[in-house]
Amino acid sequence: MAVSETGAQVSGRDQTEALEEIKAIVGPKGWIDDAEELEPHLIDFRRRFRGETRLLVRPKSTAEVADVVRVAAAAGIEIVPQGGNTGMCGGAIPSVSGEQIILSLQRMDRIIEIDPTNHTMTVEAGCILQTLQEAASDADRYFPLSLGAQGSCTIGGNLSTNAGGVNVVKFGNARELVLGIEAVLPDGRVWNGLKGLRKDNTGYDLKHLFMGAEGTLGIITGAVLKLFPKPRDTRAAFCAMRDLPAAIELLGRARAETGDSVETFEYLPRSVIDLVLRHIPGIVDPLETQYAHYVMMEVSTTSSSDDGLGDRLEALLGEAMEDGLIIDAAISQNEAHRQAFWRIRESIPEAQRTDGMVIAHDVSVPISRIPEFYEAGRKAIAEVFTEGEVMGFGHLGDGNLHFNVQVSADVPRETVLASYDAVNHAVHDQVALFNGSISAEHGIGTLKRDELHHYEDPLKLELMARIKQALDPDGIMNPGKVI
Ligand SMILES: Cc1cc2nc3c(=O)[nH]c(=O)nc-3n(C[C@H](O)[C@H](O)[C@H](O)COP(=O)(O)OP(=O)(O)OC[C@H]3O[C@@H](n4cnc5c(N)ncnc54)[C@H](O)[C@@H]3O)c2cc1C
Repeated sequence: MAVSETGAQVSGRDQTEALEEIKAIVGPKGWIDDAEELEPHLIDFRRRFRGETRLLVRPKSTAEVADVVRVAAAAGIEIVPQGGNTGMCGGAIPSVSGEQIILSLQRMDRIIEIDPTNHTMTVEAGCILQTLQEAASDADRYFPLSLGAQGSCTIGGNLSTNAGGVNVVKFGNARELVLGIEAVLPDGRVWNGLKGLRKDNTGYDLKHLFMGAEGTLGIITGAVLKLFPKPRDTRAAFCAMRDLPAAIELLGRARAETGDSVETFEYLPRSVIDLVLRHIPGIVDPLETQYAHYVMMEVSTTSSSDDGLGDRLEALLGEAMEDGLIIDAAISQNEAHRQAFWRIRESIPEAQRTDGMVIAHDVSVPISRIPEFYEAGRKAIAEVFTEGEVMGFGHLGDGNLHFNVQVSADVPRETVLASYDAVNHAVHDQVALFNGSISAEHGIGTLKRDELHHYEDPLKLELMARIKQALDPDGIMNPGKVI
């Protein structure tokens, strides 16, 4: 019999007893087993995965997480970590067996420290991303991770999926924004790596094992995040482009001409704008005339003496227009105008979901090869499926497209499902030919596990399996996900 960090007694025992012990560790406010309250935790955003659970626990501290994991591990109870449940690959959803428990980080939402001088923020894993952005801003600093789900996703989920979003072109993925983490290992021990150091070459950089691990190696309970100087001026532009190669040429020019201050560079074909206008109330067409290709870009400056950002952007776009890259453009005139542009971009997932079924692909290829890939991907899909429309859009500045096939609601679900794998393979075969990635930012979860095993280098898969075995030999941490 061992005594845990919160004083609970831990030993191997029958699972029902273990569940009672877990409830006692987290206290009455720390668990849910009511079917109605559990419901939103059992289904994913895209409504593709539905699971069952006998218990959801919401620990309030790292010590409670550690005790829950220790008791669960001793009783062989599998654990599914969950943050905001906004993930796109079903990683936070338990299996249909009903045997797994969900460990939600929702109540671990404290900002422990903001150190403006060190440009760091130390936080608990359940903090909502938007809360962290706002807290950084209040401290006259900037936390750049930004994505459509920021009002409900958690930093623990962001790190566990190595989230990307709309500012990667300048700041990188979540992995590049973290200096240290704290994690509860599958045996309940706590690894405290909460260091705010920019230089630390003391052997293997273990925190990176947990980035993108999707809860399969342990539970991230805290993180030290990098902060940046706060932008003093930010301008957005919506540009109608001649074609995709012109958009890529504009990206290079914009980075060079603005002192590499492009934060966002998103591609939207007309079909995606039409989809958003059709389904989301209050959206306004960004330009008076309709065009086939659009780029939404944003540039910023952190210098308070730089009042020429708007002029520089205007000059850049004017020159690109003279050279025939841009056909038409609008620069945001005020914050409301800028937010109106953002609403178009951020409403895409909701519009897609409302319209019908989506066969989604979150892929990346080298930026220079995107136009070639787009055409090859479109042709490959047409050979296996003719009921949908290819709507590839997204983070062009990172070489990451959401290369989705939108299928209208009048096509029977069974027809779509029958072709699902063939469409996935058609796209992913092309991704492989272009030396790209079948998951640029959403992760693997349950959704892409088979695809990962099909396309990934066998040696990499073997090394991943060995790491999993080393950290979680009994396989209690989010089994069935990733590997
Ligand atoms: C409208 C919309 C827009 C989106 N846009 C983007 C985008 O632009 N870029 C992007 O990358 N993603 C995007 N996403 C996907 C999603 O928001 C991200 O994957 C996000 O990082 C998930 O965070 P979460 O807290 O919701 O995690 P969850 O969905 O709860 O969990 C995701 C995975 O991480 C694991 N996990 C969660 N918390 C922890 C923890 N503390 N420790 C260990 N494992 C944990 C879960 O088990 C699961 O495997 C979008 C989603 C929506 C709904």
